[in-house]
Amino acid sequence: MAYQVFDHARVYTADASGSWAEAVSVEDGRFAAVGSSDAVRAAAPPGAPVTDLGGRAVAPGLIDAHNHFLQTSHCLTWIDARYPGVATVADLVALIARAAASGPAGSWIQAFGLDPAKLPDGPPTRLDLDRATADHPVLVRHVSGHHALVNSAALRRRVSEDAADPQGGQLMRDSGGRLNGWCLDSAMQLILPVAVDVGHHGPNIHFEAPAEDLVAALSSGSREYLAAGITTVCDAQVSRRELSAYREARRRGTLGIRVVCMPLSHQLDAFLATGVAGPLGDDRLAIGPMKFYADGALSGNTACFRTPYGPAGEFAGILYHEPDELSSLITRAQAEGWQVGIHAQGDRAIEMSLDAIEAGATGGSGRHRIEHAGYPADQLERIGRLGVIPVSQPGYLYDFGDTFLTALGERAHDLLPLRAELELGITVVLSSDSFVTTYKPMHHISAAVNRRTRTGQSIGADQALTVEEAIRGYTIDAARSFYAEDRLGSIEPGKLADFVVFESDPFAGSPADLAGTGIRMTVLGGDTAYQSTSE
Ligand SMILES: [Zn+2]
Repeated sequence: MAYQVFDHARVYTADASGSWAEAVSVEDGRFAAVGSSDAVRAAAPPGAPVTDLGGRAVAPGLIDAHNHFLQTSHCLTWIDARYPGVATVADLVALIARAAASGPAGSWIQAFGLDPAKLPDGPPTRLDLDRATADHPVLVRHVSGHHALVNSAALRRRVSEDAADPQGGQLMRDSGGRLNGWCLDSAMQLILPVAVDVGHHGPNIHFEAPAEDLVAALSSGSREYLAAGITTVCDAQVSRRELSAYREARRRGTLGIRVVCMPLSHQLDAFLATGVAGPLGDDRLAIGPMKFYADGALSGNTACFRTPYGPAGEFAGILYHEPDELSSLITRAQAEGWQVGIHAQGDRAIEMSLDAIEAGATGGSGRHRIEHAGYPADQLERIGRLGVIPVSQPGYLYDFGDTFLTALGERAHDLLPLRAELELGITVVLSSDSFVTTYKPMHHISAAVNRRTRTGQSIGADQALTVEEAIRGYTIDAARSFYAEDRLGSIEPGKLADFVVFESDPFAGSPADLAGTGIRMTVLGGDTAYQSTSE
C-alpha cells in the first residue's frame, strides 16, 4: 500500500517541541504528513485508504537502546529460574532435578535469570545443584548475565580446584577454600561452553548453540518485541555468533525489527585491520557503537564503587581492565572513528570511563555512551561537558531496588539521577538491558515515572520523569544515542514510518497503570507488523 492515512488519534510526535497531532499519513514506508485530521486528509491523494484509530494514543515506535535481543530470544528456550518462579533454593533444586529426569545423561542443563539476593535461604552453591543431579553438567545464569553457578560435574570438565582467578573475574570459594561453583564476570569463560573467546573484554554470554536455533529464536523474538511496541533495538554485545545469526535472519526475511549491533571490544583489532567502523549498514541491520566493559554488575554486586558497598561493606567491585588499558583501547577505537559505549555502573568505573573517553577525544562531539551509568555521583557535570550519553535502565529500580536499598543505603536514592541529567542538558536514554529485566518498554517507562521498588519502597523519588520525558528516552533520544535521529525516533514527515498505537492512553492515565498499558498496533516502515486480536 503506497499511501495510507491513520486518522482519529492522539499522536505524541516526540518532535523538537513535543507537539501533538490528530492524524498521520504514510507513503512508501515514510511519514508523509502529520497534523490535524483535516490537513492530513486534504494532503492525501483521492481514494487513499484511511484507518480509524478510534481516538487512541500514538507514539513513535519504541527504541530499546540497550537490549540483548538475541540472548533474550534464545534464553526463552532455557529453564526459567527468574523470581518469583524460583523463590527458594529448594525451588531451584526441584527445577533442575525435573530437567535432569527428562534429558539424556551428560547433556547440559541450562537455566537463566537466578537472583540469589531474593532467596531467603540463598545463595545456592554447587552442592545444592549436585543434589539435583550428578549426571548432567548444570549451568544457572545469574540474572545480571555477569555470573553463573555450575555444579561439580560442570566444574570438573573445565577447571581444577587450584585454578587461578582471571583478570576481570573471580572463581568464588567457600570458607574452606574450595570452589563453590560461582564464576563471576570474566571467569564465566573458564567454565562455560562458549562459542567465542572474548578474553577479559566482558562476561562471556556467547554460549554454544546450533546456528539454526539462534536464527529461529530471532524470528519468535521479533514477534514478541513487536507485540510490546518495539521497532528498533541496539544489541549491546555482539560477537561473530550474533552478527552471523542477524545476517541470516535478515536474509530469510525473519528479522522483524530494526537491529543496531554493538560489537564487543575483543574484536577491536579485527575491525581496525579492515578499516570498518560504525555507524555502518542500513535501516534494518547496522553496526553502531563499539561496546567496552569497565566494571561488573550492579545487580550482581560487582559494580565498582569508590566506597565499597553491601550489608557489611564487602563488595569492592570488579574491573575488567586496568585504567591505562581501557584508555588505550578507547583511544585506538576513537582514532578510527568509532563511537564507544562503555559499561560502567559504579562511580569509580564511570570516572575511569570518562577519563578514557577524554584521553582519546579526537576533537568534535563524540557522542559517546556510558551504558547503565548507575551511580555517577560527582561525575554528572563532566558527563554533560563531554557530551556523553548515559543509557539507563529504570526497570532496575523496580526489579532490584530493594536489594540496592539494602546494599547501598542512602546512596541508592542517587542511582539513575535522570531528572538531574535533564537539568544539565544531558540526553536521557531509557532501555531495558533485557534479558536482565523484561524487554517490555512500558515496564521501564513506568519505573522512570514511579521510582518504586518491587515491594513499593520509594527510590530517588525526586528524580522521577514525566510520561512524555520517559517516552522521549525510549524514542527520539534513544535514536540520538546511535546517530539515527535523522530517520528514527519521532513522527515527522520524511522519517521512517514506525509507530505504536496504545490500547489505553499512557499520557492521560494513572501512573500506577503505566506498566500494564497494552499495545494495540505496531507499525514498522508503514507496514502493520503487529495487531492485537483483543476487542
Ligand atoms: Zn547489557
